[in-house]
Parts: sequence; structure tokens; C-alpha cells
Amino acid sequence: MASLALPVNEVFETIQGEGFHTGVPSIFVRLQGCDVGCSWCDTKHTWQVLESDRVQPELIIGASGDTARWAMLTPNQLLEQFKTRYQAKHIVITGGEPCIYDLHELTNVLITAGYSVQIETSGTYPVKAAAKAWVTVSPKVDMKGGKVVIEQALHRANEIKHPVARERDLTNLKTLLTGMTSNLDVLVCLQPISQQQRATELCIQACIENNWRLSLQTHKFIGIE
Ligand code: SF4
Repeated sequence: MASLALPVNEVFETIQGEGFHTGVPSIFVRLQGCDVGCSWCDTKHTWQVLESDRVQPELIIGASGDTARWAMLTPNQLLEQFKTRYQAKHIVITGGEPCIYDLHELTNVLITAGYSVQIETSGTYPVKAAAKAWVTVSPKVDMKGGKVVIEQALHRANEIKHPVARERDLTNLKTLLTGMTSNLDVLVCLQPISQQQRATELCIQACIENNWRLSLQTHKFIGIE
């Protein structure tokens, strides 16, 4: 069977700064492509997969930066790079919106090779990945792209990491959780958007009231990617 190559925007090694895996050395694989349309998105350069931005794989690996460039890489090509260039044993597949793509092969190859794998998704596409992959759903509600958060993604989630700017974001989260018919014990992390003071206060209050966790974007506090 032919290996499924995926459009990769960047690959870099850092410390996971958010959610359950905060502090874990990680290799981030950012896939190109997203149609969710969050106004505050800080990776808008990943939204479109334009042939004119396609480059050779060697220009992507290890060359992080906010560009719209991407290259097609197979799971085995990525694995080879991870083994030869990096130390971390945890892989974070992010985007863009990685769940636009079928991630079964990539996640299976990495897990078989001994890596732990985390997928960061908006919850607006079905999660197609190995059963052992850790899925972080960061639900994006009422965004410009008009996508809706789907039950399959919420059901598959190991963690719901919810960005919060204002009261309405908490209301949206509670509506989503109320509508869930399974996975009721999922870990919930609240994340204040851009470390805003009001958002942080809202998150702290809601975490205490609901026994949820506070997720700070710790990488932004220490100035790493
Ligand atoms: S889902 Fe992620 S990549 Fe897509 S627009 Fe929203 S924040 Fe940006």
C-alpha cells in the first residue's frame, strides 16, 4: 500500500507549553491546511495549501518560522528525521487543522517506533488516528468558517482544552459538555486567551467551581515557540 504523505508546514523540537502534557519535551509537526477561521488564530499562514507555496522537504525540516511554505512528507520520512535530529519522545501533531487528514498511518508508525503521540484539533473533523494517540480537542465554536464541533471528536477526546476570552466562551463549553452523551469524565483544561487578565480570572473561577484544570501557555511566558 502506498504511504500517505501529508503537507507539513514545520517541524521543530520544544517543550509542550499547554494542557495535560505541559512541560514534556516534544517534537511538533505542524500540518498545512485549515478552514475553521478563528479570528485570533496565530497560525493563519497555515490556512491555505497553495501549490505555489510547495517546497522540497529539506526546506521544512528544522526550519521553523511563520511562513506558508509546506512540503509533502510520508510518515517514514518524518520518523527518520525525528530519530536522527531530535531527542524528544513525544510527538505533537498540530496545524492548521490536522484532522482534515487521515492520521492513522502517521500515528501508527510513530507509536510502533516507541513515540507517544498527541493530536491537537479543533474538534470540527472526525479524528482518524491510532487508538493510543492522545487527542486534545480545543473546541472552536462560532468561527468564521462555519464549522461545528462534532460528537465523534468530543467522544474521542482525552482532553478538552478550551480557549477562553470572555463569559460566552464558558457558556459555549458548558453547552458542548451538556450535549455529550459519552466520555463524561474527559479532562477539561481552560486556557485564557493571550494571558489576558479578565480571561485568566474567569478561568480560575470556573476551574475551581468545576474541578477543571487551568492551562497557561507557559511557552509564551518563557519566550519559546
Ligand atoms: S483551528 Fe487552529 S489553525 Fe485553524 S483557524 Fe482555528 S486556531 Fe487557527
